[in-house]
Amino acid sequence: MRLFFALWPPLGAAEALCAWARRVHRKTGGSVVRARNIHLTLAFLGEVDEARVPDLKRLPIWGERHALPIERAGYWARNRILWVGPEATPAPAVTLAERLRDLLAAWKFRTERQPFAAHVTLLRKAREPEELPPLPELDWPVQEFVLVRSRLSAEGSRYDVLERFSLA
Ligand code: NAP
Repeated sequence: MRLFFALWPPLGAAEALCAWARRVHRKTGGSVVRARNIHLTLAFLGEVDEARVPDLKRLPIWGERHALPIERAGYWARNRILWVGPEATPAPAVTLAERLRDLLAAWKFRTERQPFAAHVTLLRKAREPEELPPLPELDWPVQEFVLVRSRLSAEGSRYDVLERFSLA
């Protein structure tokens, strides 16, 4: 199973981000991430043996509730991704991502060695934008994180939440 841990926005916030991405798409092309697929990855696991999923569902992990401000947009030429994210990643999100990574390593799961780069991908295979419309005002309260299975389907990526973890 291809798995990752993520923060998922409320639908209203996701729809606002998707509408913004559609405006950008008129100039940059590429594929817009559908509203229901918009998320921020905390830790990417890649392929995991199904027999180990119960371990992931009961990871002893905790964290603090916080807000995730979406304040800036960026473009990565290396993978042609247009993303949005906070100006500075909130400390509780950094701590959560680090705790997850340490725990996953301790439990012998394969994790990314690259530092956590909090970003929300909105467009893939896009050309570099010359200018961007102002970002929408939105609220993204972070009260939980989720373990997600990622699959390719005829309509593109399909994500299924396998487990929810509440934050205190
Ligand atoms: P995904 O590759 O399963 O990725 C799910 C999430 O994990 C995304 O947020 C992605 O970040 C992040 N991620 C993926 N690889 C990572 C890595 N090495 N290190 C850190 N984070 C990583 O599903 P997807 O994002 O929908 O698909 C992205 C591309 O991979 C698409 O072009 C798709 O065709 C291809 N792909 C998908 C699957 C699948 O089963 N979904 C399988 C093979 C290939 P970003 O949003 O920054 O990419």
